[in-house]
Amino acid sequence: MERKNAWEIYQEDQLNEVEKLNREYRDFLDHGKTERECIDTIVELAEAEGYRELEDVLRKGEKLQKGDKVYSVWMNKSIVMFQVGSKPMADGMNILGAHIDSPRLDVKQNPLYEDGGFAYLDTHYYGGVKKYQWVALPLAIHGVVVKKDGTTIELNVGEDEDDPVFFVSDLLIHLAGEQLEKKAAKVIEGEALDIIIGSKPIVIAPKKEADGEQPCGEDEGENHKDRAKEAVKAGILDILKKSYDMEEEDFLSAELEIVPAGKAREAGFDRSMILAYGQDDRVCAFTSLRAMLDLKDTERTICCILVDKEEIGSVGATGMRSQFFENAVAELMNLTGEYSELNVRRCLARSCMLSSDVSAGYDPSYASCFEKKNAAFIGKGMVFNKFTGSRGKSGSNDANAEYMAHLRKIMDEKGIVYQTAELGKVDVGGGGTIAYILALYGMNVIDSGVAVLNMHAPWEATSKADVYEAYRGYIAFAEGASL
Ligand code: MN
Ligand code: MN
Repeated sequence: MERKNAWEIYQEDQLNEVEKLNREYRDFLDHGKTERECIDTIVELAEAEGYRELEDVLRKGEKLQKGDKVYSVWMNKSIVMFQVGSKPMADGMNILGAHIDSPRLDVKQNPLYEDGGFAYLDTHYYGGVKKYQWVALPLAIHGVVVKKDGTTIELNVGEDEDDPVFFVSDLLIHLAGEQLEKKAAKVIEGEALDIIIGSKPIVIAPKKEADGEQPCGEDEGENHKDRAKEAVKAGILDILKKSYDMEEEDFLSAELEIVPAGKAREAGFDRSMILAYGQDDRVCAFTSLRAMLDLKDTERTICCILVDKEEIGSVGATGMRSQFFENAVAELMNLTGEYSELNVRRCLARSCMLSSDVSAGYDPSYASCFEKKNAAFIGKGMVFNKFTGSRGKSGSNDANAEYMAHLRKIMDEKGIVYQTAELGKVDVGGGGTIAYILALYGMNVIDSGVAVLNMHAPWEATSKADVYEAYRGYIAFAEGASL
């Protein structure tokens, strides 16, 4: 059973739409390299399309009705959006879900030190990374520093052409004989992923004596040596103070994320692909969001949930396992006049969800890790994974055949190019998503999304055609699903 290549069926107007959507996509990636930045971008786009903050509606004591659009942000890192339908919510919603966190290096709470003439920030990696991929490439620092008085300083250094960048050093090949004998997992160890942020010692102007004698006595000379011991670090602290009014202690309440510096790029002579950081899972977040924002009025209430912390197990207050989603549904039903505990349960149980995340794109260079009949191919459209998991489907959601049949019908009727896939060959590896968490409510959930090459690498690749088909598929689902 061969699936179509999307590029082969596009007419000129569709090719134009593909390009337009992917320009917006690259813009989304460039403005959202952290979950916080994503939320800011999403809120801006949503408000431009008439979305209001749920808490604002609550505060003003208003009610909601069909056609109303609201969103709720949790701790600046997760968002749930609703477009109220004409049917009762207890009949169920159609839910688009994806995650907006990506693998990266996080700055530790006590990170700053000096060694060998360099100032460093110590890091702890976040999510699954091949550590050797993070050395010797330009890095940017994004994030927030929250001061004791509650003020938040936002940092974004390394993205503008005139910005400095940062880097993790690697051992020169000439001395790497022993290093190269190590296993890839050990070539670069986690504690070696500290980023170099400076090398210029601060210069304290010597006191000029009026009579023109030596500026320092013996004791002062000793003091001067003490100061010089960490003069590079002192220089960095001086810059942080002047630029951000930040003290060393303020790192204690900072969230600084180290990501590859630079913008999303078109890839290939034919410009058919996007090469960018963080496409897992912002490719599904963007396409789900864009679909949500472009929807006409619907019968069922449509929900789009874009969450944090998927890469570390969906834990924490902003992860999918948090109650914030369920709470938002209850608040919404209260505002539409439908709230009861039973109605909330009915709404969730009768919902349909596309849990969207990236799929492992077939890579001919590593063909032995894939089973070709059941692999996702770049350019062959939106991907459905009936199941994910590993070693005998362990940890997988495994969608119901009835649901898959319903989705096939919807996708075929709308001419969506799609394919089905597993995450690699049986027993080679595996992975999970947020699908199983929503499935706890008893709703129909399936994993879907976009195929990615070099997933979790600093630069990941996707096909523009797949971005377009996912977007179209999400609209078809939101408007057509009801099971
Ligand atoms: Mn993912
Ligand atoms: Mn991932």
